[in-house]
Amino acid sequence: MIPLVFHPIYSQLDLPYRHRFPIEKYQGIYDALIAQGVDESDFYTPVPLEPIKLSQVYDKTYVSELCAGKLDPKAMRRIGFPWSEQLIQRTLTAAGGTVLTAQLALEHGKALNLTGGYHHAFADFGSGFCMVNDLYLAALSMLTQPGIDSVLIFDCDVHQGDGTAKLAQGNPHIFTVSLHGEKNFPHRKQVSDMDIGLAKGTGDDEYLEAVDSALHLAFIQARPDAVIYDAGVDIHIDDDLGHLAITTQGVLARDRMVYAKCAAAGVPVAAVIGGGYQRDIDALVDVHLQLFRSAGVV
Ligand SMILES: [Zn+2]
Repeated sequence: MIPLVFHPIYSQLDLPYRHRFPIEKYQGIYDALIAQGVDESDFYTPVPLEPIKLSQVYDKTYVSELCAGKLDPKAMRRIGFPWSEQLIQRTLTAAGGTVLTAQLALEHGKALNLTGGYHHAFADFGSGFCMVNDLYLAALSMLTQPGIDSVLIFDCDVHQGDGTAKLAQGNPHIFTVSLHGEKNFPHRKQVSDMDIGLAKGTGDDEYLEAVDSALHLAFIQARPDAVIYDAGVDIHIDDDLGHLAITTQGVLARDRMVYAKCAAAGVPVAAVIGGGYQRDIDALVDVHLQLFRSAGVV
């Protein structure tokens, strides 16, 4: 059994008509996994992180204003969602989900969250649909466990993990890697421990070579005791925001590469689905399902 983490609130957010965020995809992935024979008992239900705990990591004013709906309109525009109580509950539950996934991965070797990868969230502001950086929190939670001294955050979402990079700067126990489109959001990049910027139109062969060498070098440099993998699929050729040209087979090959590397090193891996933007939700769900195939869930 590979633990999976899901809450229906992942897909519950009232958004303006034609908002580009594909909120339905999370429930879509859950439904597809059940349809493909995954047992409901493999799913764990996360609880929302307590804002007081966030204040240990984040700017206190930011956390309290975010939770109370008191951020100024400009700060909310940068996040890209209209404020609602539901948005905050969803955000805190998603982050709680990734922290739970991290703990389950340490216990079981692998675990997957059906959301996560909110890597544009900084200590004192949110950006690009991200308010609370679940990857960083999950890494910190892993580091509290015995025998975990080095966590590798391997971020393959097409957008640079700028918030994660900034939050983890100066922490010798967290090694951040970001493979992303060089000419894509965020246009002002932060410095990760390893950054690989890809040109627009990059295809499978070149991409998989980059993933392979990044994995190789990251394992040498970080010597990780655990890995957090952001398996964003906005690298896909049909993605609305990605500008890369990776096929569905390329996504599967990438995910398999990450799991194979972790297995060879005997390192547990917590995966999150990351970004992916297509209006056709069924098509998008199918690309996200590659992660679950590569993990051996289906
Ligand atoms: Zn992205």
